[in-house]
Amino acid sequence: MNIDRLFFPSRCIFCGKVIGFYKAFCDDCIKYSKEPVRYKKLCNGIVCISRFRHEGLARRAMLSFKYNDYRQFYLQYSIILSEVIKNELSDISFDFYTCVPPHKHNAGKLHFYGVRAIAVHTAKRNNVVFRETLYESRNIDSQHKLNAAQRRTNVLDAYRVINKDEVRDKTILIFDDIVTTGATLTACTNELLKAGAKKVYCITVNH
Ligand SMILES: [Zn+2]
Repeated sequence: MNIDRLFFPSRCIFCGKVIGFYKAFCDDCIKYSKEPVRYKKLCNGIVCISRFRHEGLARRAMLSFKYNDYRQFYLQYSIILSEVIKNELSDISFDFYTCVPPHKHNAGKLHFYGVRAIAVHTAKRNNVVFRETLYESRNIDSQHKLNAAQRRTNVLDAYRVINKDEVRDKTILIFDDIVTTGATLTACTNELLKAGAKKVYCITVNH
């Protein structure tokens, strides 16, 4: 039993109605979940696959998750991304899943990091190992107030691989919550590839 299930009922990410533990939407909102997934090519040619446009109900859900204490949505997001992976990436055998690391100034202090929680629980659902592979080597500014060029500069050379031996020759799926310009995921995937990763794919909830 996941401990959060004792304290938080499962809620539809779109309307907040209490639902069954193994669902992400209530029966009324399932119609909003039907938009096609999006494939985006990052600057380095790596593919990022995303579930929802970051607007309307999906945007509101993500903001609730990130800023308004709806942290239990990581369970719903792991159900959603687990399905995306099974439907869209079924021919790829991943050695492990990983995630974009938390900001350096938070790294030691965060008892809950939403992106990691989504990745860990999606890995559990799909019977894949989760590994932390990256850290921020210097403090970087939050990306959401910056334009595309500033975002690229902000994260340039900002990430390092924790243990290159764990990454070499591996096929890796890296998680983030939202992809906007793709600057963060490009920087992270470049670092994994430099460390010898065989193939890297990205997945996010929103885009
Ligand atoms: Zn609903």
